[in-house]
Amino acid sequence: MIQIQNLHKWFGNTQVLNDINLEIFRQEVVVIIGASGSGKSTLLRCINFLERAEKGKIFIDGQYIEPAKSNLNLVRQEVGMVFQHFNLFPHKTVLENVIEGPTQVKKIPHDQPVIMGRELLAKVGLADKADVHPAMLSGGQKQRVAIARSLAMEPSIMLFDEPTSALDPELVGEVLIVMKELAQEGMTMVVVTHEMGFAKEAADRVIYLDQGRVVESGDPEQIFNEPEEDRTKSFLSKIL
Ligand code: ADP
Ligand code: MG
Repeated sequence: MIQIQNLHKWFGNTQVLNDINLEIFRQEVVVIIGASGSGKSTLLRCINFLERAEKGKIFIDGQYIEPAKSNLNLVRQEVGMVFQHFNLFPHKTVLENVIEGPTQVKKIPHDQPVIMGRELLAKVGLADKADVHPAMLSGGQKQRVAIARSLAMEPSIMLFDEPTSALDPELVGEVLIVMKELAQEGMTMVVVTHEMGFAKEAADRVIYLDQGRVVESGDPEQIFNEPEEDRTKSFLSKIL
């Protein structure tokens, strides 16, 4: 579904992504782990073209996305993203936040997005919060709204950048449950997370990134129990 070939990204003189080659298959759940600063967020941001890599190619559904020529707004509709900080509009209600994309970006007449928005809120367990403002919600609830908002664009792949890192520990589980359900429904997902329980349960593949390179990649069993690379072992010994 997504093919990344020889991707390189620099910020000034600093190389942040170094020859990334990665293929993400339909309905696959890929978890990316790695130390702070290893390039995880930058990689996700390159996949949905919030950042532009200097070198390398990205194909989505077999189609080469040429940043200068492709319609990046259409690409971003296909590739949903959930951030650590939820970025909800504070002055809009929960439902208004969820239908913002379909009504403003896709220009779908109001009724249909409202029906879908309510369904999505029910799906993330927040049917009763449609008409309140984000300030009334806990962090876990805000993040579930952010997931519903992203799903409202009907993406074919979802990227999650440390979606539970900003949450109080007791709120992490409710967000992970929603993500696991999505995975079970067959959503293609790339998830940057330190939640190793989620990775073990939900991931088809775990990728360890260090200094902008894919050091190791394998199924969760292998990466967590029998990592091959010393750098992977050393990283895991610090977080597990
Ligand atoms: P991670 O998500 O793994 O913590 P990032 O992708 O955020 O890593 O960052 C990788 C490296 O790129 C870091 O050294 C970071 O300081 C640098 N970086 C990230 N974004 C920018 C930016 N917009 N400008 C300059 N440097 C950046
Ligand atoms: Mg990051």
